[in-house]
Amino acid sequence: MNFHELKREEVETKLQTSIQRGLTTEEAERRKRQYGKNELTEEKLPSAWVVFIRQFKDFMVLVLIAATVISALMGEYIDSAAIFAIIIINGVLGFLQERRAEKSLQALKELSAPQSLALRDGEWKKIQSADIVAGDVLKFSAGDRIGADIRLLEAINLEIEESAMTGESVPVEKHASPLKGENPALADMKNMAFMGTLATRGSGIGVVTATGMKTAMGNIASMLQTAQRSETPLQRRLEQLGKILIGAALFLTVLVVVIGIIQGHELYTMLLTGVSLAVAAIPEGLPAIVTVALSLGVQRMIRQKAIVRQLAAVETLGCTTVICSDKTGTMTQNQMTVTDAWSSGKHWKISGKGYEPKGKFFEGTKEVSPSEEKSLYQLLTFGLLCNHAELKKKEKEFVIQGDPTEGALLTAALKAGLGREQLSKTFTVEQEFPFDSKRKMMTMIVKDAQGQRFAVTKGAPDVLMGKSDYILWEEKRQVFSKLYRKETEEMLQTLAGRALRVIAVAYKPLRATDTLQDAEQAESGMTLIGMQGMIDPPRPEVKQAIAECKQAGIRTIMITGDHKETAAAIAGDLGLAHRQSDILDGQALSGMTEKEMESAAEHTAVYARVSPEDKLKIVKALQKKGHIVAMTGDGVNDAPAIKAADIGIAMGITGTDVAKEASSLVLANDHFATIKAAVEEGRNIYENIRKFIRYLLASNVGEILVMLFAMVLGMPLPLVPIQILWVNLVTDGLPALALGLDKPEEDVMKRPPRHPKEGVFARGLAWKIISRGFLIGAATLIAFIIAYQQHADNLVYAQTVAFATLVTAQLIHVFDCRSEKSVLARNPFGNMYLIAAVVSSFLLMVAVIYIPQLQTIFHTTALAPREWLLVFGIGAIPTFLLAGSFFARKRK
Ligand code: ATP
Repeated sequence: MNFHELKREEVETKLQTSIQRGLTTEEAERRKRQYGKNELTEEKLPSAWVVFIRQFKDFMVLVLIAATVISALMGEYIDSAAIFAIIIINGVLGFLQERRAEKSLQALKELSAPQSLALRDGEWKKIQSADIVAGDVLKFSAGDRIGADIRLLEAINLEIEESAMTGESVPVEKHASPLKGENPALADMKNMAFMGTLATRGSGIGVVTATGMKTAMGNIASMLQTAQRSETPLQRRLEQLGKILIGAALFLTVLVVVIGIIQGHELYTMLLTGVSLAVAAIPEGLPAIVTVALSLGVQRMIRQKAIVRQLAAVETLGCTTVICSDKTGTMTQNQMTVTDAWSSGKHWKISGKGYEPKGKFFEGTKEVSPSEEKSLYQLLTFGLLCNHAELKKKEKEFVIQGDPTEGALLTAALKAGLGREQLSKTFTVEQEFPFDSKRKMMTMIVKDAQGQRFAVTKGAPDVLMGKSDYILWEEKRQVFSKLYRKETEEMLQTLAGRALRVIAVAYKPLRATDTLQDAEQAESGMTLIGMQGMIDPPRPEVKQAIAECKQAGIRTIMITGDHKETAAAIAGDLGLAHRQSDILDGQALSGMTEKEMESAAEHTAVYARVSPEDKLKIVKALQKKGHIVAMTGDGVNDAPAIKAADIGIAMGITGTDVAKEASSLVLANDHFATIKAAVEEGRNIYENIRKFIRYLLASNVGEILVMLFAMVLGMPLPLVPIQILWVNLVTDGLPALALGLDKPEEDVMKRPPRHPKEGVFARGLAWKIISRGFLIGAATLIAFIIAYQQHADNLVYAQTVAFATLVTAQLIHVFDCRSEKSVLARNPFGNMYLIAAVVSSFLLMVAVIYIPQLQTIFHTTALAPREWLLVFGIGAIPTFLLAGSFFARKRK
């Protein structure tokens, strides 16, 4: 379709839409039903069958299956059927786990799915980009990814980077006028914006002409931003480690078999024992459980409003040593209210709360009428001219659509009875140089009723003062002399020192013939009108969160585009910086060498008046000093810093698509406290993974050693194959999963951050695994020997005692794994999942021992109460033998 040739009205008719009101919700729904979702066809997940079958292709499992077939042929029907059943149950569990991991990864992807701003029922609404239909009117600005193919109807300084389509990375200038010519090349369609491309400058409005596979991107049919699904460093390390563990387990198993055969055990029994032992002891499921634990943690993070885009971030979070956070909106509420105005040497106070346009104006203690205060009125008028914010009443509350800073200026103007409609009768807007964080100002070119043209600028006062040659003083334009500058500067210090964000307003008359090529031309030689100061209170929970981070060995750094004094005042309130030397501003920063920056980075708590480019330098300086840096951002220019940081964090509400795509974590609520919560969760997940690795491996060591010891000592088999498989399935599996859901130890945020290169087995874990595993094996063997001595004629009895002791020792030991310190350091009832897992594992074991039908299958026999004393007494030794040292250490 040649939409590029059509005029505005023709586009409207052709797509049956209204540019003023957009589509109705019903019509959009109808079109979605008829034409489908706005999605490119994705690669499909493997089918359930494929995943299920995959569970059995493990070599040892195949050997075990072969062994059961052989034992069936030899007439051991019960054994082979039971083992076969266990293999199937194992497979089903593995399958469920893998599916669950897949599903949660899928859910993650959907959560971070792109959104677009669409005009529906006459209002701008954020919708999922997948719900866009042809005929939708979309609005976007720098930083947004284009959600569908769009014919542009409005383009203000719009530039789009189309490398996703054309490979050309230089952004293309766009316009909204019809084009001539049939089928031009994509790159020449300057009045169209294509799905998947990226707005890098300005803003635009347009009508959707094609969605999903019908877009130009659909034609190319390559999927853009699939959420990355690479393995995390821990998973990679575990996989390597897994190979070593498999080798060790296999070696020991072979040893058991060989020694067993030498000692005169039956070949067939030894082979089946060996294979069962190998299946039980090889931790082949570890990476899968780690994935499940990671993704369960991710779900918990989502509940706390932290959306993880890369699984690896979960681990890195726990290593974070520095959090660099934006001030506005992240540490503060972004609820701006103008409280002070200053012009022509006069200072007014403005009453009122939030965005409610109700308030009074005072000069000193005297109430004044703003319309009679000429310079105040002009300050408010121009603050409203250079402004896009809109005020809406939602239920009983007033909310701002657009930039909160502009919302505050709008509200202040409304309090003086100034409205946009009224202004639009007098002024027409000709051109705009939009706000950007680098210039720290914004300019509108307007014409008044008499045809006089002005450039109206608002922005950071220190910047505007530098660009102004005149000042409006008692309604006259005066040269901005030293005296006036001093007075302005003093007022700025006073306002900023009270933690107010200060915005200055200036103007410049233009001749009818002046054409302005760039912002630079408009924003020079201006006349300063005055300043407005607005409060933006800190979020209440931030102070506490910063203090908790400090305890956890994590430094918080505030980075802001705001004035140094404003930043310093807020930082003081939040307990961030006390000394002036901890505060650096952009100017000081630009004069520093790399080395100086690095040493400053070690103590600087606040960076003020910085531009997004400085953020990258700050990240690099901190990383050079060995820090693991989390860095927040929202704009296009923040993306490089977000990418370079170890944890790039994007704002969910105010963040651009570019920032989100560069990030590994998105804050759904933009709050600083969410970062702290994510770090805490990151630490906890890692500790939980260590907990169940410790449990599983110690259990495996115990299982192998009891068999090995018995063979070396020339004893009968303490456990039969089906018992080994049972322990692997029930006793190992359930509690390990419950450990993955454990709550953090109380001091998890009181420890220093973990070193990123730290191995899984660091901090004494290897010793704990080997020592406890050894003790579990030894205890089981001792119980077996005692029982066998008492019932020399009854091997089944002794084997049942060994089986019960092994299970009990493990189920007690699992509580030890919950703490880095000792089993006695934590309340055993603190994890109800674990209690449930332990109780059900125990009851299942009792069932296996006492139910006659199961006795036949599992080669067990009922135990007398006295034997249970033995089982518990000996089973508790591995855990409690070494627990005493905890108290010894504590007493010191
Ligand atoms: P951060 O979010 O990094 O804490 P910030 O929001 O203060 O900082 P910017 O949005 O880059 O950072 O703003 C920098 C400065 O530009 C502000 O201190 C203010 O003086 C000025 N400014 C902010 N918004 C506008 C706007 N809409 N129009 C004009 N000037 C603005």
